[in-house]
Amino acid sequence: MSHGWGYGPTNGPDTWGADFPVANGPRQSPINIVPKEAQYDSSLKALKLRYDPSNAKGILNNGHSFQVDFVDDTDSSTLTGGPISGTYRLKQFHFHWGASDDRGSEHTVNGVKFPCELHLVHWNTQYPSFGEAASQPDGLAVVGVFLKIGAANPRIQKVLDALDSIKTKGKQTTFTNFDAKTLLPSSLDYWTYDGSLTTPPLLESVTWIVLKEPISVSPAQMAKFRSLLFTGEGEAPCCMVDNYRPPQPLKGRQLRASFK
Ligand SMILES: [Zn+2]
Repeated sequence: MSHGWGYGPTNGPDTWGADFPVANGPRQSPINIVPKEAQYDSSLKALKLRYDPSNAKGILNNGHSFQVDFVDDTDSSTLTGGPISGTYRLKQFHFHWGASDDRGSEHTVNGVKFPCELHLVHWNTQYPSFGEAASQPDGLAVVGVFLKIGAANPRIQKVLDALDSIKTKGKQTTFTNFDAKTLLPSSLDYWTYDGSLTTPPLLESVTWIVLKEPISVSPAQMAKFRSLLFTGEGEAPCCMVDNYRPPQPLKGRQLRASFK
């Protein structure tokens, strides 16, 4: 990988293991979710998300996706309950999506891909910082939300309207007063399993919480995601699409469901 990891033929997910051997580790993500093989666990608690809209800080094209970043120096935007113990703070959210509507999500359900998947990334405050939490087995909790084609979703439009300002790699702008909770579906029923970051360094530190109910996105809104570029200003433009890692082997892990 002479120019770093990405999603192309020469630096894509199949090649990441050369620089990041944990790519073949025991708890890699994403996975294919087979609902009938998930174990209902009555001890799983309801998810509690308490987000402060004033913690939204900025939006960045990082060359692999775009992310909305949050101020995380206090416990004002947190995830508790669900499968986790203690308090996890919201760090950022980002998406993965396809070049067309038949693919784009990282997790799949019975082998079916969604056109897009939202990841809300939180870190365990028993560690001093996101960076330190990211290498601990219980350091991160990511809530995954599928997007499916349907009606235009007014709640993601503010995010999409910011994308014109961050078209190329490395661009960022302020993004404030946004309640990430509005991106969630009405039901917070979830599947959960122990996994990893889905981008290098692929650290095996993520408690995954994948919501059963998708949110909607219109074809025109999906087109807006695809207007971003992987490339920097002045480089030959390359559309940011198909920025997803395919499902990885379960390797004996248990998938649990919060619902029957
Ligand atoms: Zn992600």
